[in-house]
Amino acid sequence: MPKILPIRILGDDILRKKLKEADPKDPFLKSYLPDLIHTMYERDGVGLASNQVGVDLRIFVIDPWWGREGAKRDPKVLINPVIHHMEGEQIHEEGCISLPDIYANVPRALKIKYSYSTPAGERVEAEAEEFEAVVIQHEYDHLNGIVFTDRVSTLAKLKLKLKLRNMEATARDGVNIRVYEDE
Ligand SMILES: [Zn+2]
Repeated sequence: MPKILPIRILGDDILRKKLKEADPKDPFLKSYLPDLIHTMYERDGVGLASNQVGVDLRIFVIDPWWGREGAKRDPKVLINPVIHHMEGEQIHEEGCISLPDIYANVPRALKIKYSYSTPAGERVEAEAEEFEAVVIQHEYDHLNGIVFTDRVSTLAKLKLKLKLRNMEATARDGVNIRVYEDE
């Protein structure tokens, strides 16, 4: 049975780290990937990056359509993803499992071209647009130590300043774990 992994929240050093390339053949991934996917659904996310569960690897999982009427679970794992091309602009309200209760409008590219390795080790080229592109850009940022509030307007940042500072203040020795009742 996959486990629910503890979530790192803002103030944790690993959320500010550029993560390491992963080896799709790493035996650690056999148990880790099901845990990462399980944790995303249990926390009602449409995406989850490895540093959000304290793992220093360039891996995230997404399921942008989860939560929509009639949607079936369809998780996609992206290992060592690279965004090659961005065009256009869109603005959506974003939130993040690692920044509980914070929401803000974030400008993103409308369309992207990207590549990634699958858990089977195959390199795939793909394109995404609209909401799927938002989710990929949000998770990709995590792999580089960027959170969505870094990308909001100066005014929005000012409004969130106190909430963000209070969240960061709960960190101890560079670790900030949110414990939920079901863990
Ligand atoms: Zn996030």
